[in-house]
Amino acid sequence: SLTLGIVGLPNVGKSTLFNALTRNDVLAANYPFATIEPNVGVVALPDPRLDKLAELFNSEKIVPATVSFVDIAGIVKGASEGAGLGNKFLANIREANAICQVIRVFDDPDVVHVDGRVDPSSDIETINTELILADLQTLEKALPRLEKEGRTHKDRRPAFEAAAKAKDILDAGRTLFQAQAELDVALLRELNLLTSKPFLYVFNADEGVLTDEARLKELRELVAPADAVFLDAKVESELIELDAESARELLESIGQLEPGLDALARAGFHTLGLQTYLTAGPKESRAWTIPQGATAPQAAGVIHTDFERGFIKAEVISYGDLVDTGSVAAARAAGKARMEGKDYVMADGDVVEFRFNV
Ligand code: GDP
Repeated sequence: SLTLGIVGLPNVGKSTLFNALTRNDVLAANYPFATIEPNVGVVALPDPRLDKLAELFNSEKIVPATVSFVDIAGIVKGASEGAGLGNKFLANIREANAICQVIRVFDDPDVVHVDGRVDPSSDIETINTELILADLQTLEKALPRLEKEGRTHKDRRPAFEAAAKAKDILDAGRTLFQAQAELDVALLRELNLLTSKPFLYVFNADEGVLTDEARLKELRELVAPADAVFLDAKVESELIELDAESARELLESIGQLEPGLDALARAGFHTLGLQTYLTAGPKESRAWTIPQGATAPQAAGVIHTDFERGFIKAEVISYGDLVDTGSVAAARAAGKARMEGKDYVMADGDVVEFRFNV
């Protein structure tokens, strides 16, 4: 499954956040047989629709979609030159599907900042610089080969041209993610460039920042078009120890409506380009993860590969229609159940039952 790699400077709160990600009980509760690597943290995608479906169908349990985060050992300046954990660090990022940078905005004189002060844009630049340098190394190695291929094979020209353009962008100190409007990164997929991955930013803040709308807006603009999540990692690691009522009180005391991990799950899901569809029955109400734009047979394949191979059609009811009519039978009677074929592109909130041959 797709993962976000957690990166950040030392002492920004990565371990504290990761601790909350690994100790929340979503996996134990819903995926008892899943084996999880020690450096992977999983969080449930909050979806109130599942509670409603479970009520309508009298489901025994609810199985939410999840988002996985991989803890990547700390970056240091000079990582692109192999300093310290450099090479391993870059190899781990290469395997992640998106990059999640944790940035410190909390003030605490007892916690040393590596660069001596709290400065989010400088932290972002430090990480970006290392990733940009690594990509430039990759490109410098690949460009002569791509140029040669472009000369002998016309269909390889676009890849060479995109690579040359990518080098210019990186030389100017920008990531390929920041330049995605100017460059078709799909042409460069074979190079697996680090800065072409989607970025997500987690600001580890304290209450003062979390309730300061102007400051939040400023930070959001600093990283746009990437998603920004604001949370207090220390509070998150305490929340997972509490019962629902105490957790709500603690959140309220710092002016928050929901756990930061909920917002992080949504942003992670969005950054990875994922969406869900729903199934419901007496056994379980469940959200299934698919890439945005997936067709009905691809969606069926997430449940079981046989479902994709033997796909006949999908009976689809929009979540809103199902709740309005109150049952599958009533939705059918009201003409709200659609039979969709193999070219159907799934929409968010589709409640589905697949018909297939085995
Ligand atoms: P890492 O090096 O990025 O993994 O950072 P850690 O998670 O180890 O955190 C470094 C120090 O900062 C620890 O002493 C944490 O308790 C503290 N810390 C982490 N998050 C917060 C926070 O939101 N507020 C404050 N005041 N301290 C924090």
